[in-house]
Amino acid sequence: MPGPLAGYTTLRTGGPAQRIVAAGDADELVQAVRAATEPVLILAGGSNVVIGDAGFPGTVVLVRSRGIRVIAEDATSVTVRVDAGEPWDDLVAATVANGWAGVECLSGIPGSTGATPIQNVGAYGQEVAETITGVEVYDRVQGTRQTIPAADCGFTYRGSIFKYVDRWVVLSVDFRLTRSPLSTPVRYAELARTLGVEVGEQVPLADARTVVLRLRAGKGMVLDANDPDTRSVGSFFTNPVLDRTTYEQLLERSADLGDPPAWPGADGLVKVSAAWLIDKAGFAKGHPGEGGVAISSKHTLALTNRSGTAHTSDLLALARTIRDQVHARFGVTLHPEPVLINCTL
Ligand SMILES: Cc1cc2nc3c(=O)[nH]c(=O)nc-3n(C[C@H](O)[C@H](O)[C@H](O)COP(=O)(O)OP(=O)(O)OC[C@H]3O[C@@H](n4cnc5c(N)ncnc54)[C@H](O)[C@@H]3O)c2cc1C
Repeated sequence: MPGPLAGYTTLRTGGPAQRIVAAGDADELVQAVRAATEPVLILAGGSNVVIGDAGFPGTVVLVRSRGIRVIAEDATSVTVRVDAGEPWDDLVAATVANGWAGVECLSGIPGSTGATPIQNVGAYGQEVAETITGVEVYDRVQGTRQTIPAADCGFTYRGSIFKYVDRWVVLSVDFRLTRSPLSTPVRYAELARTLGVEVGEQVPLADARTVVLRLRAGKGMVLDANDPDTRSVGSFFTNPVLDRTTYEQLLERSADLGDPPAWPGADGLVKVSAAWLIDKAGFAKGHPGEGGVAISSKHTLALTNRSGTAHTSDLLALARTIRDQVHARFGVTLHPEPVLINCTL
């Protein structure tokens, strides 16, 4: 029996698996999934999963394939094909060093490249949906390999056709990047302010990367073995996207607190800051739960295994308390961002 899965996750929680196998390239990944005893869990960086204390009653396949290849280029752009197990931030560092713009604001996000399409990873005004051109997958239902064009990936805010379904194994991802010494126009106000530019301006790629890494570290959002605030899955809840009626009800219920930070979207929908809702519902940074868990001392949205010895049940108990209190106060339901494996909120 292999040891607990806690050692394979950034939260450092989760019980044992029946079997753990590592796949070093795409062919091995397909073989491992075909040969595995069901159920199967694909696990890469373990930075977006919450695994139950009972562990996983099947085979865990670790994605350990590496490689970045240029598959097409012209005067203005470069398309790279990246193996699923390539650490995401190594790819970002390489793009910045090569003068390829498009993912520089996604510096410092933990985990693998193959997991980025799963929840359309995003931060500081960029998301991978803007640069992905296709995702090579193994289809476990049909038993075939195919490339799904970006337009068919169903990318949404922290979502895609791949999230919460077992059908697809991501083997590699293609990104089309722009040859440019400058970043894409900076969209995120805090980033622009820190860079000393206006929203919409461009900055040298390396400056964008350096400042994003600094901002993230200040929020405990870059993995650091010496910082217990980073023993997390990053943001535990997504920012709720509300229809107009629910948003107006929220404004009424929060009238005494001022308007929550909000970003209008398509179809009259409004995305609202989950961190604000949590804070105003009475949970400050550092708020402790039972059993060694706590809200990060740097970021209200991150729930941490503060002691390093907490259980998943402790973390979920804190998450439930927060969700229920936010709902009672504001009538808004928060949803978890990570994938919950063999446990529920
Ligand atoms: C400190 C911290 C900060 C973070 N900041 C951000 C952020 O700013 N923005 C953001 O979007 N996310 C953020 N995250 C979440 C996380 O880093 C990303 O979602 C990342 O892409 C997960 O990659 P992973 O390899 O660790 O995936 P894992 O946790 O290993 O897996 C996540 C899910 O994807 C599936 N999966 C993984 N690889 C494959 C594959 N090859 N094929 C099929 N399924 C697969 C798994 O089965 C699971 O369901 C943060 C996490 C932490 C800990």
